Amino acid sequence: TPQAGKYSRVLLKISGEALMGDQGYGLHPPTVARIAHEVKRVHDMGVEICMVIGGGNIFRGLQGSAQGMERATADYMGMLATVMNALAMQAALEAENIHTRVISAIRMDEVAEPYIRRRAVRHLEKKRVIIFAAGTGNPYFTTDTAATLRANEMNCEAIFKGTKVDGVYDKDPKKHADAKRYENVTYDEVLQKHLGVMDASAIALARDNDLPIIVFSLDEPGGFRGILAGEGTYTRVHG
Ligand code: UDP
Repeated sequence: TPQAGKYSRVLLKISGEALMGDQGYGLHPPTVARIAHEVKRVHDMGVEICMVIGGGNIFRGLQGSAQGMERATADYMGMLATVMNALAMQAALEAENIHTRVISAIRMDEVAEPYIRRRAVRHLEKKRVIIFAAGTGNPYFTTDTAATLRANEMNCEAIFKGTKVDGVYDKDPKKHADAKRYENVTYDEVLQKHLGVMDASAIALARDNDLPIIVFSLDEPGGFRGILAGEGTYTRVHG
């Protein structure tokens, strides 16, 4: 497996839904704690970690606009949802004794630091976990794009996209027994075949900056750590 065991700084992207457990909505504290523990195992390896968490477990801009709300307003609500998820994850990481900073793309100084690039880098150097909240701060984007943007800015070696399955498949492996997992796939193939890795703007931004995306299962205990140690199955999206 290429590139394994070589990472010193990574960005972990998870969807908001990853935090809701078996509930249909919101935050499931034991699930948040479980993911925080997965992050701790990687932090213990000395890897510098940034996180971006989506907001889909609470609110999605597209949902709101489908119900007649102005898209930009709905998107700002979605961004605020990511702040709640970030605060929940910060609390869970602190319960694991990991120093954590939430950095928001929308200023709200009472709850999170503003985004100042060099300051964020300094946190990483001090082995603090950073959670980037409020996406890019702009409507019409997603947290996948925010993850790609921040990973580039922080000079992360790769984005780790934690999902429910251990990589990118040619069709939904939960529905088709003969679905095949890609070991490696190019950005262009992901775009052409509409393989649901991340949205197109995020993939294009990763492609234009040669930022690999590693898609892996977050449901596997120790899976995140394993992949950084060179074990386990995943898909590597690259140029
Ligand atoms: N969002 C946005 N700009 C951003 C990031 C997010 O407007 O830069 C809004 C958008 O409405 C999105 C919502 O926040 O639907 C939640 O983010 P996302 O859908 O990416 O969450 P996930 O699917 O990863 O849980």
